[in-house]
Amino acid sequence: MKNLLALNWKMNKTPSEAVQWAKELRAALPQTSAELAIMAPAIALQGLSLELKDSPVKLGAQDISAHESGAYTGEISAAMLKDVGAMYAVVGHSERREYHGESSQIVAAKAAAAIAGGLVPIICVGEGLDVREKGEQVAYTLDQLRDSLSQVPVLGADQIVIAYEPVWAIGTGKTATAADAGEMADAIRGALGGLYREYADGVRILYGGSVKPANIAEICAQTNVNGALVGGASLDVASVVGLAAAL
Ligand code: PEP
Repeated sequence: MKNLLALNWKMNKTPSEAVQWAKELRAALPQTSAELAIMAPAIALQGLSLELKDSPVKLGAQDISAHESGAYTGEISAAMLKDVGAMYAVVGHSERREYHGESSQIVAAKAAAAIAGGLVPIICVGEGLDVREKGEQVAYTLDQLRDSLSQVPVLGADQIVIAYEPVWAIGTGKTATAADAGEMADAIRGALGGLYREYADGVRILYGGSVKPANIAEICAQTNVNGALVGGASLDVASVVGLAAAL
C-alpha cells in the first residue's frame, strides 16, 4: 500500500503564497514512494490546482460541509471542493472538534457527505492528555472511531483514510513513540476489521502529531501505519522535501 503524506497547512498561507510555495515545491520535490497531498485552506485550492495540474501532488480541504447544498451560510460543499480539484477532505481534526464543537456524529455526517460527493475523507481520531494519563487511549480512540464512521457506508478500502492524532502531540513538539503509534494503528486496524470486513486491510491509517523529517521513517515503518498527517512541518518546502525523501 502506498504511504500517504498529507500536509495540513491549517490557517496559513494566502492563495498567492500557496501558489508560490507550490512552484518551489515542484522545483525541489525528490523521488518518493509516497503519495503527497496538500490540505490547503479552501480558498487556495483553485490556484494550487492550476499550478500543480501536471504534477503527482494531490489536493484536499481541511473541512467540509455535512450538507449537499442550500442555506448553510459560510459552508463549503463536497461538490465545490471537487470542482476546484480536491481529492481529499480532512474531517474531525481535533481543532475542529475542540474549537467548533464538532461531535463524532457531525464528523460522521461530514465523512458521509465527502464520500457522496466523490471525495476521500481523512477521518481524525485521537485521545487527549487526560485520557492518555489514565491509560484509556485505546478504548477512547476506538469509540471515537466507531462513532465517526457510523454514517459511512462500506464501499471499498479506498473510500476512507483514518488519521490517528493524539491531541497531546499536535503542535506541541511531543511525538508519540513509534511503538505507541504502531500499537494504536494495530488497534484501529482491528476495529476496522469489525466494521469493514474484507476492506479493512486496505484502509490507510496515518499517524499525526509533531511528525518531522527526523522521525517520519521510524513511525511509518510500523506495520499498520501507512503515512502521516503533518501540520507544523508542512509549511516549509525544505521540510516537506525532507519528509518525502524519508519515505
Ligand atoms: C495536525 O495539524 O494534524 C498536526 C499533526 O500538527 P503538527 O504536525 O504540527 O503536530
